[in-house]
Amino acid sequence: MPELPEVETTRRGLAPHLVGQRIETAVVRNAALRVPVPSGLAKKLAGSTIRNVGRKGKYLLIDCGNGTLIVHLGMSGRLWLVDAGAAIDKHDHFDLVLSNRRIVRLRDPRRFGLVVWQASTAPEHPLLASIGPEPLSPDFTGGWLYDITRNRSAAIKLVIMDSHVVAGVGNIYASEALFRAGINPKLPARRIGRERYALLADKIRETLEAAIRAGGSTLRDFVGGDGRAGYFQNEHLVYGRGGEPCVNCATPIREIRQGARSTFYCPVCQRR
Ligand SMILES: [Zn+2]
Repeated sequence: MPELPEVETTRRGLAPHLVGQRIETAVVRNAALRVPVPSGLAKKLAGSTIRNVGRKGKYLLIDCGNGTLIVHLGMSGRLWLVDAGAAIDKHDHFDLVLSNRRIVRLRDPRRFGLVVWQASTAPEHPLLASIGPEPLSPDFTGGWLYDITRNRSAAIKLVIMDSHVVAGVGNIYASEALFRAGINPKLPARRIGRERYALLADKIRETLEAAIRAGGSTLRDFVGGDGRAGYFQNEHLVYGRGGEPCVNCATPIREIRQGARSTFYCPVCQRR
């Protein structure tokens, strides 16, 4: 599943090829994504020029001047650039056709992704309005985490995966950041103090930035290629390493279930 680092790498990979390009049309082959692709999208997009490719959490925001095309990659989506005439796969649901004969293509086999339109005059789209601070921005601090968790008795791992608390920290990076901060993933959020939250905010940022750096080498995959999902195969410290020795203390990494997802942690390094 694409997490924030993959989405940010997609943004960085596509932006230089998109900004300044005029949109010729949009092709919707299958509108039945997580949210239906709005009808009449081609008409809204035709003739506009892409001004910027931004991101909020895991949403890509393509600024077209008269509005913003909002794209989410869901569980299995990939957005990349192909030349006009490239073969069309049955999972290629959406194309943004540029006037330079290139196409921004969305392939999404599981169709949990989405493509929606927000007119520039409209209030912020409900999908984006309730998202918490961006973890790589200065708005995201230990103080914010501390303040928002004073009444929350849910486990800290589940709380940092809540997009109202912080945007786009998924299952993998939640486990990784908690390990780096030495915090037990089962600890009730309200029992964590200011100092440890400051450390956790730093470690969330550090973990995501490291993954984005590692993804830099795959940037070329966002242009051309066959559209196979190029999600990162990172070396994780705890995620996916159940039963293997901890990199710090050699204790076997423990795997538990939290909120129907796997959590990995070291019972010694993350004792409390
Ligand atoms: Zn350990």
